[in-house]
Amino acid sequence: MLGLPEQFLFSSGIGNGGGVIQESASGSCILMLVAAKRRALDKLRQTDKDLDPYDVSSKFVALMSDQAHSSIERSGFVAGIRTHILPTDETGSLRAQALLDGIAKVKSLRRIPIFLGVTLGSTTTLAFDALAELAPICHDEGIWVHVDAAIAGSAFLCPEFRYLMAGIELADSFNCGPHKTMLVTMSCSVLWVKDRTTVESSLAIDPPYLDYHLEKPHVDYRHWSFNLTRPLRSLKLWFVIRLFGVQGLQDHIRKQSRLVKEFAHLVSTDARFELCAEAIYSHACFRLKNSDNETNRHLLNQINMTRKVVLTGSVFKGKYILRFAVSSPFTESKHVEFAWKIITEAANELKGADTDGLKD
Ligand SMILES: *Cc1c(COP(=O)(O)O)cnc(C)c1O
Repeated sequence: MLGLPEQFLFSSGIGNGGGVIQESASGSCILMLVAAKRRALDKLRQTDKDLDPYDVSSKFVALMSDQAHSSIERSGFVAGIRTHILPTDETGSLRAQALLDGIAKVKSLRRIPIFLGVTLGSTTTLAFDALAELAPICHDEGIWVHVDAAIAGSAFLCPEFRYLMAGIELADSFNCGPHKTMLVTMSCSVLWVKDRTTVESSLAIDPPYLDYHLEKPHVDYRHWSFNLTRPLRSLKLWFVIRLFGVQGLQDHIRKQSRLVKEFAHLVSTDARFELCAEAIYSHACFRLKNSDNETNRHLLNQINMTRKVVLTGSVFKGKYILRFAVSSPFTESKHVEFAWKIITEAANELKGADTDGLKD
């Protein structure tokens, strides 16, 4: 459905791929960092059988961009791996040169880069890292590429969005969140990996009370997450797919994208506002032009205090921005127009009450 390369599937017959439904993108990322650590240790063990994994892993570094979700940095805390943040270009996208500079910097400190978190659809502005540029570099360096597409991954149901995941065939893992943008209730986050042996061996411990015999080949999901007890998440995902059908889900995604663009168009017609990123899917980012962060933050509060719409805020390249998202299948153009009316009214009142921030 998503157009992922065959290597990620159990059934592909090529390689060693597979997938699992996890509770969250955060959990998926932590798990992938642990797997990356395992792969790096295994590689080093080939030349030094007696290495102390705790000593060596103090040299490991996980890379991510300044637009990566906080959960990627947190994965470093949990896995005990140092993190290194790479700068993005003016659109929020991580490009090859920043990665090359980052790798060189890490190596100059006698550390070993083992993991790159690639964001396809950032939380703040839905920026896409240049996976096609980054993945070959990581491939050559033996760096695990984990693709975090928590929000935007569902859009890959529609072929016209798939150019945004060019280079995916060189990634090691891919995660997206049907509980975010594919109408599935929480929690349901889908994770695919190319090398499930590494994932399983990074967590496998076989205590005697779990010594049961399964017919081979089988997939033992107890080695695919930190929990042994797993809720049945597959059924609700299956029901959503059955209810809407692939085409129905594609229609939903295209409608979300269309409504977000309609909103962005409304913003562009009002000279007081500016768009802060290209609106392609899920959410549009905007702010009051020539106004400071406090004023924009205040506007967001005023809008939300009406209790008629809810917007969220964030900071992009030092500027406070407002984020307008569409996620319900029941949202129509008239609701977008209604929301815009609330927003402009709040901006009008702001001008009356507090003109400071809106001058010039
Ligand atoms: C929301 C988000 C996450 C975290 O998702 P959870 O499933 O809530 O853990 C990770 N990455 C991105 C890009 C997100 O937008």
